[in-house]
Amino acid sequence: MSKLSAELDHAFLAAALRPTAQRYAVLEFLAEHSLHATAEEIFRAVNRNDPRASRATVYNNLRSLAKTGLVREVMSEGKAARFDANLRRHHHFICERCHAVEDILWFDLPPSAGRAALGGREVSKYEIVFRGACVGCRDSQLKQGAK
Ligand SMILES: [Zn+2]
Ligand SMILES: [Zn+2]
Repeated sequence: MSKLSAELDHAFLAAALRPTAQRYAVLEFLAEHSLHATAEEIFRAVNRNDPRASRATVYNNLRSLAKTGLVREVMSEGKAARFDANLRRHHHFICERCHAVEDILWFDLPPSAGRAALGGREVSKYEIVFRGACVGCRDSQLKQGAK
């Protein structure tokens, strides 16, 4: 058994969600590709492996995965919602040029940071969204500048 499939099995068990073949396929695709796919892209990928997968079933499976927290919606900012396997905590980086959404390894904020700003609010989760130019966009800009 691969490391990923063990991780997926564990995640389904922890979320008490029945791992049907299609739910499994959706979560596996999102876990393998950290490109933060839209529902349509997920449907196309799952359907490529299993042509019987209908759009409605894939969308329903995506919804039940999101409801149990195995999948989360990443900030979409007016565009089509993008989804993410929620197996490991991570922050996000959004490229302002090519609009890529990239995962950033998790690091904790110092506990004192933000406490005053948050006041009495109770925080259950948080993530940081960084914005700027991804490595690819930055490199092509540097190359253009060198011309
Ligand atoms: Zn970029
Ligand atoms: Zn992510």
